[in-house]
Amino acid sequence: MSINKHQETKCIHSGEIDDKQFKGAVSPIFMATSYAYFDVDTLRYPRYFNTPNQEAIGKKIAALENTEAALPFASGMAAISNTLFAFLKKGDHIVLQKDIYGGAFHFAEEELEKYGIEYSFTKGIKITDFENEIKENTKIIYFETPSNPLLKIVDVKAIASLAKKHQLLSIVDNTFASPINQNPIDFGVDIVIHSATKYLGGHSDILAGVVASSKENIQQIFETGKNFGGNMSHFIAYLLERSIKTLSVRVKKHNKNAMIVASFLEHHPMVKKVYYPGLNNHPNHKIAKKQMKGYGGMLSFELVETLNPKIFQKKLKLIKPSLSLAGVESTILQPAETSHKLIGAHKRKEQGISDGLLRFSVGIESVKDIIMDLEQALKSE
Ligand SMILES: *Cc1c(COP(=O)(O)O)cnc(C)c1O
Repeated sequence: MSINKHQETKCIHSGEIDDKQFKGAVSPIFMATSYAYFDVDTLRYPRYFNTPNQEAIGKKIAALENTEAALPFASGMAAISNTLFAFLKKGDHIVLQKDIYGGAFHFAEEELEKYGIEYSFTKGIKITDFENEIKENTKIIYFETPSNPLLKIVDVKAIASLAKKHQLLSIVDNTFASPINQNPIDFGVDIVIHSATKYLGGHSDILAGVVASSKENIQQIFETGKNFGGNMSHFIAYLLERSIKTLSVRVKKHNKNAMIVASFLEHHPMVKKVYYPGLNNHPNHKIAKKQMKGYGGMLSFELVETLNPKIFQKKLKLIKPSLSLAGVESTILQPAETSHKLIGAHKRKEQGISDGLLRFSVGIESVKDIIMDLEQALKSE
C-alpha cells in the first residue's frame, strides 16, 4: 500500500522510480533513446513521452494536480502550443483572456491565423467578458490566474461552468499559483498547464512545461505532441522530479514572505500601490480566498513618481533585477522596460501597466533581509 495522500508527500514520492537493481533512495536516470521491442508492453522512445523519467514526472504532476494523467514538455510554451493545436482545427475559434502571458499572447496573434484558427481576446476578466466573446465555432476558453504582472484573479469555478454550459474546453495556465496553492481541476477546469520553468523547477536553471488532464485529453495532446516533438528530455525530467520534492516547502515560504513584503510595501510612503491577491484591498481578494490555498510569491508595486525605477533597482543589493521569476532567489523587473516594452506606451497604459510598476518575485531568503534591502533602496536621496 502506498500512503501518498497529501501534497507534501506527493511532491516527494509520487511517480518515483523504484531502483530494483541497487535499491537507491531516488529515481535512477534512464538516458537511453533506444529500447527493445521484443517481448515488451510499450514501445519506448523519448518523443513518445514514455521513457522512464518522462513517465515518472508525468505521474508526479498528475498526482499534484489531481488528474488522471500528465505530459512533460520542453517548455511552458511547448505545453501551451501543443495543447491548443491538439484541440483546434481550421475554422475553430478560441477565447483567450486579454492579459495572458506574453508568449501565449504572441502565439495566438502570430500563429493561429496561419492555420485558419480564429481567436478573440476578452476585454476584461469578468465572466461576462469571457461569455461576450463566445461564438458558434468557439471550442476553447483559455485563461490564467493569477495573471502577470498585475496579479488579477479570475474566478476558476465560474469559468469552468461557463465552458461546460457552452460545451467548450476550459484550459488554465496555473503557473503563478503552482499546484500547492491552486488545483483548478477541483473547480471543474478541463486542462491545467504549467511553465515548469517557474515554481515547479524553482531554481532558475531548467526550462520545462507540463500539461495535466483526463486520460482521454492527454491521449489527444500526446497524438499532436509526438508530431511536433517538443518533449521534455529525460535528464530535465529527472531534475524536475528533484526540484518538485521541495515544492511544497518552497511555495509555503514564498507565500509567507510575499505576504509580509506586500504589507511592508503597502505602508511605505515611496510606494503608491501594491498588487497582491493576499491583501484585503485587492479587488479580487474574495475570489482568491475561495480558490487558493496560498496567495503565492508574486506581487507588483508602483513607486511614487519622484523615485526613478531604474535607480531604485540599481540600489538593490540582494534582490536581483532579472528576467523570469519564481526561483528561490528574489528577483525584480520593470515590465515597461522588459516583458511589456515592445507593446508600446499606449497599450501599456490600456493594460494598467505604468512605467513605475515593478514585478517582484519574492524569494525564500530571510524576509528580514529582503525588507532591509527594499528599505535601503526606497530611501530617496
Ligand atoms: C514563463 C511562463 C510561460 C512560458 O513558459 P516557458 O517555460 O518560458 O516556455 C507561460 N505562462 C506563464 C504564466 C509563464 O510565467
